[in-house]
Amino acid sequence: MNSKEIRHEAAKDYLMYIDGKWVEAEGGKYFSTYSPASGETIGRIPEGSRNDAVKAIHAARRAAESFRDVSVWERSELLKRVAAVIEKRKDELAYILTLDQGKPYYSESVYEIANMAKTYLEAAEQIKWLETPVIPVEDRNKRVFSIRQPKGVYAVITPWNFPFMIPTEYLSAGLAAGNTIVWVPAPTTSICAVKLMECFEEAGMPRGVVNLVTGRGDVVGDEIVSNPGTDAIGFTGSSATGKQIAIRGAGKPLLLELGGNGPTIVLKDADIDYAAKSIAAACFSNAGQVCSSTERILAHRDVYDSFVGKMVEQARQIKLGDPFERATTMGPLNNYPVVEKNVLHAEDGRKRGANILTGGAVAQEFPGGLYFQPTVVADVTPECLYNAEETFGPVAPIMPFDSHEEALDIAGRNQWGLVNAVYTNSLRDSMYFAEKLRAGIVNINENSNYWEPHIPFGGVAGKSSGLGRVGGKYSIMEMSDLKTICMNIR
Ligand code: NAD
Repeated sequence: MNSKEIRHEAAKDYLMYIDGKWVEAEGGKYFSTYSPASGETIGRIPEGSRNDAVKAIHAARRAAESFRDVSVWERSELLKRVAAVIEKRKDELAYILTLDQGKPYYSESVYEIANMAKTYLEAAEQIKWLETPVIPVEDRNKRVFSIRQPKGVYAVITPWNFPFMIPTEYLSAGLAAGNTIVWVPAPTTSICAVKLMECFEEAGMPRGVVNLVTGRGDVVGDEIVSNPGTDAIGFTGSSATGKQIAIRGAGKPLLLELGGNGPTIVLKDADIDYAAKSIAAACFSNAGQVCSSTERILAHRDVYDSFVGKMVEQARQIKLGDPFERATTMGPLNNYPVVEKNVLHAEDGRKRGANILTGGAVAQEFPGGLYFQPTVVADVTPECLYNAEETFGPVAPIMPFDSHEEALDIAGRNQWGLVNAVYTNSLRDSMYFAEKLRAGIVNINENSNYWEPHIPFGGVAGKSSGLGRVGGKYSIMEMSDLKTICMNIR
């Protein structure tokens, strides 16, 4: 099957899901959505208004009263039913993911759907075994202990790079913890959001517990963040929008998963063949549109030339093409602003003397203008946008360094602190960098994209990569309140 055949199956008008009903936007407004693979329109999505968002907030608030009393075991069963529906519909969901987002069906979409089902199952288990402490105290007449309670109504806003998996991080943990949810997905992957709501409906999720409002982030997203009817915020997206949301939602508990830009550091004693293969996978999967992508690489000068050569070999093995074809290993970028950023960073690199060894431009042989060539850039300087900014594309920018201190200095010279990686055969150097690097996660001899859904994931303080941790019980703890109960038994 290719993208053209699929497009004809999916093209239609979609609806929002509010208070357990499928509804149009106020005034019947829609916007069109397109396939990144072909550029053709694949459906129309309701363009929600602030009033639509308010209706969803009211529905979630009504549902919150009863949902907080649903037992942990019942919530767990609901999440297992969601996982079962996803498992049953996995082929359809993977097709929609490739159609709407553009990632390769065989090498990526099927895995995102499998991970999504697993994450609901894991949340269903985690919530059952999350004990809270009884706290010894000085006063012999007191008994002090804690319980976890839902925060209430969660405003959840998500990006387009993992349109099933990222919402799932919030929906699985948020519901396990007993919250109700108003969700605004990214406009360019809203069909995925509608499909996920269909799974929730089929699983029998009670009315109003999860509500989907589609439309512009600065309209419906802003409303759910700033409206006093929501109690807490979960947001994944760019650092710029994250800061805006922190201002508009000031005073509410925030879970923010924002941008990242590595780096990955290759020391002179690393296994260079292994490092190049491993790192390339994190530069080019999902066409580099991952917050943890390897977007800048620091290679020790002693191994620099050999490493650069191997990265070029890796990039040339990527098969760019129609994401529905079995042989394709990289599809188009999701939208035009991302393409523009990749073009800008390549031009800036050229001006500053970096050498684009392969790629660096839009691949003109494909329709729609969203296919960007796998790119390897050598002799990048710390001033280049590749080092300073997040590129969010299929690019491996490489810089030489001479000492540990210089590597740490370059690594720290930007605003990001999400996932770093180090390749070395020295245990001592592994620990040196693991402890010194300013990042929420450091992977040793493993690329920056390695993650499993229960591992705590998030940015380090003092940078712009976010606040709090998602992942398994860590998300559940973030998305619930620890209430302390003190009993006087005298
Ligand atoms: P974005 O910030 O442009 O948009 C994210 C979401 O916010 C979208 O749904 C958008 O509609 C909404 N939005 C936009 N303006 C808003 C506003 N004023 N108020 C409320 N909502 C608003 O980001 P993007 O381009 O969709 O996603 C890419 C970014 O996400 C990258 O920076 C990437 O690193 C980051 N990301 C981070 C993680 C993580 O876990 N740390 C994971 C994936 C992506």
